[in-house]
Amino acid sequence: MQHVCPKVVSMKLKGGYNILPEGRPKGIVERLPEPDALYLPLCSRRFLFEEMCVEDGQQVNASDVIAKDPNNFALPLLAPRGGTVKLKTVANHVVLTDISTPDKKVHIPEKRLPHIVQEVGTAGIKRYKLLSLGAWQFFYDAYTGQLPDPLGTPQAVIVSTLSLEPFLTRGDVQLHNRLLQFTRGLEHLQSLLEYQPIYLIMPNVKSPFASQVCEHICGYAWAKLIQVPLKYPYDNFNILARALGLKKAAGPIWAVRVEGILAIDRALTVSKPCLVRILSIGGPAVSSPIHLKAMAGYPIQTVLDKYVTEPDVRVLDGGLLTGEPISQEMLGLGAECRGLTVVPELKEREFLGFTRPGWGRKSYSKCFLSALRTDFSERLTTAMRGELRPCISCNFCEEVCPASIMPHLLHKYLYRDLIEEVEQARIDLCIECGLCSFVCPSKISLRGEFIEAKELIEKEKEEIRQEQAKQQLQENSE
Ligand code: SF4
Ligand code: SF4
Repeated sequence: MQHVCPKVVSMKLKGGYNILPEGRPKGIVERLPEPDALYLPLCSRRFLFEEMCVEDGQQVNASDVIAKDPNNFALPLLAPRGGTVKLKTVANHVVLTDISTPDKKVHIPEKRLPHIVQEVGTAGIKRYKLLSLGAWQFFYDAYTGQLPDPLGTPQAVIVSTLSLEPFLTRGDVQLHNRLLQFTRGLEHLQSLLEYQPIYLIMPNVKSPFASQVCEHICGYAWAKLIQVPLKYPYDNFNILARALGLKKAAGPIWAVRVEGILAIDRALTVSKPCLVRILSIGGPAVSSPIHLKAMAGYPIQTVLDKYVTEPDVRVLDGGLLTGEPISQEMLGLGAECRGLTVVPELKEREFLGFTRPGWGRKSYSKCFLSALRTDFSERLTTAMRGELRPCISCNFCEEVCPASIMPHLLHKYLYRDLIEEVEQARIDLCIECGLCSFVCPSKISLRGEFIEAKELIEKEKEEIRQEQAKQQLQENSE
């Protein structure tokens, strides 16, 4: 890391690569029309809202608790609008019908607070408020990606203004005209802490916004401004924590993006819940890629009908490289959705695709004719182009890997079931960014292989832990 001035540090990171396919969402934010019904999915990437707090047919107001996730500090799923609850209409969803507009102001009932005051003081009340008003869901543990304990003590907090995976909601779009709320949110965040630093991650580009933020945080002894190049996946919290020298063993590291800071400000300044969020809809199959203001449960089909004209598409919940395909059973936007990516679904394989000159096709190796074109975005589809070949040891995956591991070597070990060697080659450092799979000319599903292998290793370790605990119990009872 190279110091530019006492307040700003420029960080150098390894690997990374920007892919620039067609379909980048514009900076405009459109508000979706009020829906007739909301379909709230009961599970998202991190949460499973299995503790139901409402009954079938019950009338609820906006921000009432619909359900909680008992394994994530009772994180609530809030009703984005008032309406009538239907529990049996759609599997794994709570449906709200007879939708009404939200109340102007929502307060936490005072009677729920006194024990928290005694136990954890003012900062504890604020943290409880963040949890109750839906702002805590925007927090991550930088290393595990899980929801951190709202009453825990972090060693540091990473706040990122970047969003670099195509086509997720951009940080600059969320910050547009909200600098005051953002800096106020940062101050609220600091008031939850004692002495722990807040690392504010900014792009290393000169912009009026960056200068304004610099001016604002100049007086904050607790904020450290870190500039990073605009390259995917340098917005990844795990990579940032490692580059900042924050060790996992020294305690949790909280991580939060712009939307989380704005949610903190909303919850702690005006006591309002976070019911609506800005998300993106982008990708080559979207007629007008854009940002949207939408609430959890908004009917996905209504969004697709408005923005997608192609008949056969694959819709991803999330970005192009790490998004998960949305199944037909999922009817509403999930509680954690940061964007929808829509790609034309082409099932046929391009005959001898890899031998074509590739005027319209980009590749990391720049081996296609398109290398002669400037300022050009490829129109990606889901079609195979003659790939799925063995590893040709080109090393591209290693060049782009931000975790400094050797994906091709891991692939070879996994192919031969050499799990011990896989562990020694540090598969645990893989952040699942998907760049290796993307640049691989043989289109080996490296990311998918590594996710599976990590799950398998974790499962085996858990089995060993349980077996050891059982043996220990037996020994103690003898
Ligand atoms: S998915 Fe893992 S192995 Fe592949 S580039 Fe990203 S961090 Fe490296
Ligand atoms: S990019 Fe693909 S083909 Fe090239 S070394 Fe990596 S795994 Fe092998």
